[in-house]
Amino acid sequence: MHGTDLEYPVQNDSRTHGLWARTAPPAPITSVLGERITVDVAVIGGGYTGLSTALHLSQAGTRVAVLEAADIGFGGSGRNVGLVNAGMWVMPDVLTATLGETYGERLLELLGGAPRLVFELVGKHGIECEIEHSGTFHCAVGRSGLAELEQRAAQWTARGAPVRLLDATETAECVGSTVYAGSLLDLRAGTIQPLAYVRGLARAAIECGARIFTHSRAVSATPTGGRWRIHTGGGSVSADWLVVATDAYSTGPWAQIRTEQIHLPYFNFATRPLAKNLRDSILPELQGAWDTRQVLSSFRMDGHGRLVFGSVGALRGSGTSVHEAWAKRALRKIFPQLGEVAFESAWYGQIGMTDDNLPRFHMLAPNVIGFSGYNGRGIAPGTAFGRILAEHINGRIPESQLPLPVTQPRAPRMRRLKEAFYEIGSQIAHITDARH
Ligand SMILES: Cc1cc2nc3c(=O)[nH]c(=O)nc-3n(C[C@H](O)[C@H](O)[C@H](O)COP(=O)(O)OP(=O)(O)OC[C@H]3O[C@@H](n4cnc5c(N)ncnc54)[C@H](O)[C@@H]3O)c2cc1C
Repeated sequence: MHGTDLEYPVQNDSRTHGLWARTAPPAPITSVLGERITVDVAVIGGGYTGLSTALHLSQAGTRVAVLEAADIGFGGSGRNVGLVNAGMWVMPDVLTATLGETYGERLLELLGGAPRLVFELVGKHGIECEIEHSGTFHCAVGRSGLAELEQRAAQWTARGAPVRLLDATETAECVGSTVYAGSLLDLRAGTIQPLAYVRGLARAAIECGARIFTHSRAVSATPTGGRWRIHTGGGSVSADWLVVATDAYSTGPWAQIRTEQIHLPYFNFATRPLAKNLRDSILPELQGAWDTRQVLSSFRMDGHGRLVFGSVGALRGSGTSVHEAWAKRALRKIFPQLGEVAFESAWYGQIGMTDDNLPRFHMLAPNVIGFSGYNGRGIAPGTAFGRILAEHINGRIPESQLPLPVTQPRAPRMRRLKEAFYEIGSQIAHITDARH
């Protein structure tokens, strides 16, 4: 397999990792692959999925090497909002209707418990990542938003999940804004500093014996004598198994993982640390939050009292000023107590969406496997899928017990057109947003 030439995202740009790069503890020391090495499992991609796989394999005594094209957390794992969600974007009943009862309920159970796995790993490995386990609020915009949340609440409650519907008054007290018609509090969830978490996973994996090579992009993979040899510019890895954990930022031998997704751009702005009276009024218990609008907004506090506010869009070209102006207007409307807002950091990334909004399990070749396509829900799922990959490779979970069926990557129709539509459409939505 040889790599295709997909456009590689910009590096050394403060708008890729923004606030998170400024406040995360340093990454562990890694090196560039410059020799031929042999391991049991090679992992391509240094995000949550790849590093959770590496951590769980190395804990079990398996020899692992991770190849990362740029730096640890360069992809979605270092630039997201940091909402540690339980479950996927789609409603639980839609998920089971799409996957069937067996896979659907299995996946829901795994993902429902996935935030707990994140919290446990953080505790066990002493990862410093501003972790908060106080839940998340899905905030209802108008009556239709509330009706959607009532449905979600009923579907999760039927599965025994600890979720609670709050009315407008309770929501205003908890969130610090009177604009919402209600909210759904999910007590399984929480927030993290995403880049700090992925760097912590890398450190923990190294401490357990994994080898991590950064600036070591896999350019080709060749089957030789029942094993795989993966070449980078400067060296190669021979392995029995190959885990492809490159998701929306895929380049190289299995770039079709990228081309089966539609990229949805998403940006974030962070304020300066807020004064105490504002911290006491906006999300005082530090939950994460997002709303029910189609072009949604999300907000959360970081560990130093900065408000992080995001929505759909790319901070490039005309998008930079359009989205910044909208974010200021929107914040004034949602949180009038803020007064004039100044932003300290701005950044954006690409969320990989699949055509049914569900993740994928691929067997790309014999002993070449990977999960991808998290549709903006990758922190807890990527961590949980990484553990599943490790257990499958170690023979503890047979293929029939995996949480997703095997599918082949399938390019969606009109991918580039849809991506352009998301980027331009988000600007139009933010220019014409009468409410903000
Ligand atoms: C702006 C934004 C906001 C988001 N918000 C949230 C959120 O609040 N909560 C949530 O749960 N999820 C969120 N997500 C989604 C989440 O960040 C991703 O689903 C998750 O990070 C995917 O992790 P991963 O390890 O699978 O892939 P990634 O973190 O993308 O890692 C893939 C890595 O593979 C590397 N790579 C690619 N090709 C090669 C190659 N050939 N050789 C070697 N390395 C290669 C890349 O450089 C990259 O570092 C968000 C995503 C974005 C972009």
